[in-house]
Amino acid sequence: MGTNWQGVNDAVDDVVVGPIPPRVDASMGPGMMHIEIDKVVAEMGPAPWSKLLIEDERNLGTLIASMPGQGNHAHWHSNFDEWWAVMAGKLRWELTGGKIIHAQKGDIVWIPRGTVHHIVTEGDEMSLRFAVAMPPAVHVWQEECENCDVTWDAREP
Ligand SMILES: [Zn+2]
Repeated sequence: MGTNWQGVNDAVDDVVVGPIPPRVDASMGPGMMHIEIDKVVAEMGPAPWSKLLIEDERNLGTLIASMPGQGNHAHWHSNFDEWWAVMAGKLRWELTGGKIIHAQKGDIVWIPRGTVHHIVTEGDEMSLRFAVAMPPAVHVWQEECENCDVTWDAREP
């Protein structure tokens, strides 16, 4: 593992000669330098929702809110590992092979490439998780979860 520098350079067209002051300082969404989670939650309103907050050639950071019992559409990724910081509530990750991770506010969950993740909010309050993925973040969607009874309609990437 580690970084292939040629690959990194190929992915980044916008190379800066610094140091320079920030070129971007958006008030919401990608380019926002200081992300105040309480303000994002207030603006987004009732769960479920997701909000892309960080985006560049190599990072996608998305804040996701969901209510107890709500979950994502199970999927896996072929070429990047994904990780999440749990910022509120409780969640479980149901994974290929039957492993279940129960996580709560303050925890970080890391899932290696190739492993299906079905993520469901547990407990009795809204959960918040900050998902970190790598562009283009291709999803391989599943039509069922091997760990529970939930199914989904077929979906293309
Ligand atoms: Zn994923």
